[in-house]
Amino acid sequence: MIEALLNYQAADAKLRKVEVTLAGSEERKKTLSAKKYIEGVEETLKKLDEKAAELYGAYNGCVSEIAKLKEQGTEFSGAASDATDKSALDYLSKKTDEILLKIKSLSDTVNRINGEIQNLLKEYAQTRAKTKAAKEQYEENLPKYAELKNSLKPEKEQAEKELEELKKKVDPALMERYLKKRASFYPVAYEVKGDVCGACSMQLSMNEIGKLKNGEVIECEHCGRLLYSK
Ligand SMILES: [Zn+2]
Repeated sequence: MIEALLNYQAADAKLRKVEVTLAGSEERKKTLSAKKYIEGVEETLKKLDEKAAELYGAYNGCVSEIAKLKEQGTEFSGAASDATDKSALDYLSKKTDEILLKIKSLSDTVNRINGEIQNLLKEYAQTRAKTKAAKEQYEENLPKYAELKNSLKPEKEQAEKELEELKKKVDPALMERYLKKRASFYPVAYEVKGDVCGACSMQLSMNEIGKLKNGEVIECEHCGRLLYSK
């Protein structure tokens, strides 16, 4: 009973080869990576927009604060030119100094924000350039991938046809177990080696070994492969 499955598995290598060729092809990788970038770029732009709004808000806040302080400064110097007693003059001079310090600190902040805005503009430009490149990559590779798929189609169909025939000889329940696992790995079925799994070399339980000796096909509890004993 296992022989029929092993024949199927051997022929299945041809189908597997086509699948691996397609999955590992540069055409597919490039198409997918470009698609992924394009799909994610909206989120990137949204984040950049949020950052831009935040920076412009902070920038405008500083600029209007500076304008207010300058107005106050003008008022104080006007008052100073009218003042006659020394304590009033000292007070006004102290106030003017405070204002100048605040303006200096705010100007530093404005400069820092300006620097960040410049960086952000660079990021926008880079994102635009990358998006353009990704679109080109996608448009170039999508038809190439389709072409590759098409070129492998006869080989794939031939393999499938052969498998369809071999399938008829395999026990349906066993076939179903094989096909379920085939989606995740290949080969699926391994011969047991003594009392360890033929695929992952892990020790099997006594209970499982007993089943193997009864001619059952078991499932390795470590790697999930099907195991048989001849
Ligand atoms: Zn195993």
